[in-house]
Amino acid sequence: MKNLAEFQYPESVEAALALLAASPGEARPLAGGTSLVFAADPRTRVLVDLSRVGLRSITLAADGLHLGAMATARAVGRARAVADAGLAGLAEAAAACGSRLLQNQITVGGNVVGLYPWSDLPPVLLALGAVARLRSAAGAREMSVEDLVARHPRRQLKPGELMVEIVVPPAPRHGGSAFLTFGRTAVDYTLCDVAVALELGGDAIKAARVVVGGLRLFPGRLCAAESTLVGEQPVEAVFAAAAAAAMAEVQVANDFRASREYRRELCGVLVRRVLQVAAQRAAGRTA
Ligand SMILES: Cc1cc2nc3c(=O)[nH]c(=O)nc-3n(C[C@H](O)[C@H](O)[C@H](O)COP(=O)(O)OP(=O)(O)OC[C@H]3O[C@@H](n4cnc5c(N)ncnc54)[C@H](O)[C@@H]3O)c2cc1C
Repeated sequence: MKNLAEFQYPESVEAALALLAASPGEARPLAGGTSLVFAADPRTRVLVDLSRVGLRSITLAADGLHLGAMATARAVGRARAVADAGLAGLAEAAAACGSRLLQNQITVGGNVVGLYPWSDLPPVLLALGAVARLRSAAGAREMSVEDLVARHPRRQLKPGELMVEIVVPPAPRHGGSAFLTFGRTAVDYTLCDVAVALELGGDAIKAARVVVGGLRLFPGRLCAAESTLVGEQPVEAVFAAAAAAAMAEVQVANDFRASREYRRELCGVLVRRVLQVAAQRAAGRTA
């Protein structure tokens, strides 16, 4: 970072926004600092450290679960509010964010805005229909995580804009979520991950969101797999059909660690398993 001239420690969100607004294009927020992206961008002249601005709370409110942008992955994985909200899939994704040491550093904002193919929180937040709250010196706005990750989130944020929190809508009464990832070792970058949010209505699946990550730069919904589920009973044959649909529709990028065919197959296996878990959870919430 040869052009880095300033390192700022604002004590409030407003002060951070003022610093970002003062050097558009040259000031960058620093959250957990686990990404080397700053080193790769020669325009970065000012780092605005967010460690003193707050934004760490994780709370459950009537409109859903609020995750402060500076909440760490470790805090999300262990939060009482996440368990109380019935969002087991979110806790699973947070617990998958690299090693324990990294989980203590990686933040919600950094994991989502600094998106990599292996970022574990975006797929599950997309499956859960979460919304990001953004602020700049000029005002505030919201964007769904689905829209945010349609391109790289850093390109979606305007200059000087901060993500301040993510809001996950309340889980449906008969809802269940789950997240599964697979890598060569427990802390290796994922080869593929799948997040699912299911809602049951009577004997059938009323709504389903199936999201795959790790196979390309951006996570995405598997709409054909979702269509095979809705209106059907949550049984093994239906999950197998969804897995087959997922394998047919998913696009897989090259990766030196495993062939495309292997990762496509892996995607199908994870879809089937994650659906079983999410359906059990949804049925448990019914009882
Ligand atoms: C060896 C290693 C293994 C890893 N394995 C995994 C893994 O398996 N799974 C996983 O999910 N992650 C993993 N990570 C973490 C991941 O690669 C990123 O480094 C991490 O998500 C970045 O989060 P951070 O809080 O450290 O953000 P930072 O590194 O501080 O920032 C990342 C980017 O986001 C921007 N940013 C941060 N916060 C905000 C905000 N509130 N508003 C606007 N912009 C913001 C920054 O300006 C920067 O561009 C790993 C990291 C390492 C080093």
